[in-house]
Amino acid sequence: QKPILEVNGLKKYFDIRGGPIGRKVGEVKAVDDVSFTVREGEILGIVGESGCGKSTTGKAILRLIEPTAGKVTFLDKDITSLNNSEMRSLRKDMQIIFQDPYASLNPRHTVEKIIGEPLLVHGMDSVKQRTERVQELLEVVGLSPYHAKRYPHQFSGGQRQRIGIARALANNPKLVICDEPVSALDVSIQSQILNLMEKLRDEFNLTYIFIAHDLSVVKHISDRIGVMYLGRMVELTDKNKLYDSPKHPYTQALLSAVPLPDPDLKRDRVILKGDVPSPAKPPSGCAFHTRCPLAMDICKEVRPVFNPVEDNHFVACHLYE
Ligand code: SF4
Ligand code: MG
Repeated sequence: QKPILEVNGLKKYFDIRGGPIGRKVGEVKAVDDVSFTVREGEILGIVGESGCGKSTTGKAILRLIEPTAGKVTFLDKDITSLNNSEMRSLRKDMQIIFQDPYASLNPRHTVEKIIGEPLLVHGMDSVKQRTERVQELLEVVGLSPYHAKRYPHQFSGGQRQRIGIARALANNPKLVICDEPVSALDVSIQSQILNLMEKLRDEFNLTYIFIAHDLSVVKHISDRIGVMYLGRMVELTDKNKLYDSPKHPYTQALLSAVPLPDPDLKRDRVILKGDVPSPAKPPSGCAFHTRCPLAMDICKEVRPVFNPVEDNHFVACHLYE
């Protein structure tokens, strides 16, 4: 499968300002040199604890926030060099679904207006056409066309996320970045939404980047999974490889906390020491060295390179160099 998206050396640093005149006193390296490729039609999961930079990565890819450095190639175009109007027309093809569907839907607009807005923005001027398309989209996400005249507060959380999905799909995008789309939902609703998203992927040839903090959620839906820690991608490979033979000590620790389907099998539980360090003061060398049970001297000094250790399996760790 050819790549639809290539992310190369992506960085997003935020200034920290302080004092009476708001001088720059430091920076947070929210995303620090992240590279990966997404193939057409796949679902790439990205996992990590909150604050690891996964949402920022998603937003920087779409240029909803401007990357500090790096190159993003989408459909063979270097989108980091596009001007605003070129970017606007490309946005049709790349969409985002947010974690909190309530916050991302305007409470004063009807569903019809909410889903119709991206259609209008991209040139569907006819009210009749828009109304028809909205009805079609509501059906696609499993809602009744009668819902078109209602307001977001009249729906349950799961239904609101369906509305968010309908809005994202309005203009037939190719890539959808899903930023924790089920994290705010009840567990019983989560799998319904995940099943819907999988069905839509097949039906409309979508490619997803699926961001989650919960390994069991990405396991369900992803083809490949990338693991992030403190702004860096530390491991990336096929879902089964990642679950069966994780290589990075951080991935091993994360997985050791996930129950196995067969209760007779047990992984050794790896308990990490301490908390995640502040991204404003990431440890030197390997950012994981302060918590890694296998840390060596070199880990404090030298940042490990994100390298393939075997075919289609990338790891950033000195144990494999
Ligand atoms: Fe642990 Fe060193 Fe590997 Fe980092 S580079 S994960 S500290 S062994
Ligand atoms: Mg987030």
